[in-house]
Amino acid sequence: MERDCDVVVIGGGVVGLAAAAALARAGRSVVLVERHAALAQETTSRNSEVIHAGIYYPQGSLKALTCVAGREMLYERCAERGIPHQKLGKWIVATTEAETATLEGIERKANANGVPGMRMLSHAELAAGEPDVRAVAGLESPETGIVDGHALCLSLAAEAEEHGALLVMNTEVCGIDGGAEGYRVETRASDGESAALQSAAVVNAAGLASDRVAELAGIDVDARGYRLHPCKGDYFALAPSAPISFSRLVYPVPAGAGLGVHATLDLAGRIRFGPDTEYVEKLDYAVDPQKNRAFAAAAGRYLAAMRPEWLTPDYAGIRPKLSAEGEPFRDFEVNEESDARLPGFVNLIGIESPGLTASLSLGERVVSLLASF
Ligand SMILES: Cc1cc2nc3c(=O)[nH]c(=O)nc-3n(C[C@H](O)[C@H](O)[C@H](O)COP(=O)(O)OP(=O)(O)OC[C@H]3O[C@@H](n4cnc5c(N)ncnc54)[C@H](O)[C@@H]3O)c2cc1C
Repeated sequence: MERDCDVVVIGGGVVGLAAAAALARAGRSVVLVERHAALAQETTSRNSEVIHAGIYYPQGSLKALTCVAGREMLYERCAERGIPHQKLGKWIVATTEAETATLEGIERKANANGVPGMRMLSHAELAAGEPDVRAVAGLESPETGIVDGHALCLSLAAEAEEHGALLVMNTEVCGIDGGAEGYRVETRASDGESAALQSAAVVNAAGLASDRVAELAGIDVDARGYRLHPCKGDYFALAPSAPISFSRLVYPVPAGAGLGVHATLDLAGRIRFGPDTEYVEKLDYAVDPQKNRAFAAAAGRYLAAMRPEWLTPDYAGIRPKLSAEGEPFRDFEVNEESDARLPGFVNLIGIESPGLTASLSLGERVVSLLASF
């Protein structure tokens, strides 16, 4: 089969871009295909932009390993390339004695994952450090920070292109044929024109559509446990006039499918709360303004002064979750699919949080999975 490139990467979010940049840096010829007119228009631009330390995930899981490794790579990249970021640190706060016990468990998990600097805070530190926060105990994570995700994506796109990768916008992958002899990736451009790319390998980094893209390649998604269950997270912005301030990120003790409605700061110093968790059938990013009461109640657990009228709808993101509502922890699925008779086909499925933090490490993992293809 005559080849157009070594690897076709499907998806121009942060994970596809990190994979494309790492593959191109490793000397592979890469074509990245993105269906939108611009890069990173989906989950990558709809998240908290937090550089996670690697606290919550089971020891040895891909989420833990790629978050811890990816965080270090990300801080290094930000420093080298002038990507806006801040290592603000984060507090996880307990508001009841029962939550304090959970907090101690979180500290043990973080230590097991090799997260440096975690420590329980004294009452005096809690009161002096964040006077607006009401808590009976707190755990500090000094390694947590925030990053300009858009600038990160631009830096990855630039690096991929510097190493010869071709980034093709406005083009959707609509068919995948092949296997041992290589792949024929069928595309349809936004003007309706169809084309095909021949490659030795394929990387599926299609985010919320990654289960459907795996199906295009002939994978039985239900049998492999790759079916996604989209879970929406809304954000509300705090009115600048509200008498609440923070100097770091403040999270509650998590309960349920997300990390809890937390307070994040963006790089401009604005405060927002979110994301909540709502499993959805449809990908709709509208934020229901009526939810401000529920958000105020959730944030009110650790912010006694919180009032619903200070909160306005901001934006929403949708998590590509592998676990359906009420189901236990699922790890990232990052697999080279020789077992499914698709050698050189790498699926990245269920890349929810901490996927932004983990992206550079995931990119390196793709390079090693494809080393012999
Ligand atoms: C509410 C929320 C908060 C989060 N907060 C954080 C956080 O603070 N820190 C953190 O580390 N992570 C966070 N995450 C996770 C992080 O945002 C994601 O893990 C990451 O953005 C996933 O990137 P991606 O490239 O896999 O997916 P995406 O950004 O969704 O990119 C996939 C791309 O594939 C394209 N595509 C799909 N199908 C096709 C096709 N057939 N042909 C061509 N292109 C296609 C799409 O258009 C899209 O651009 C959060 C996620 C959510 C939802």
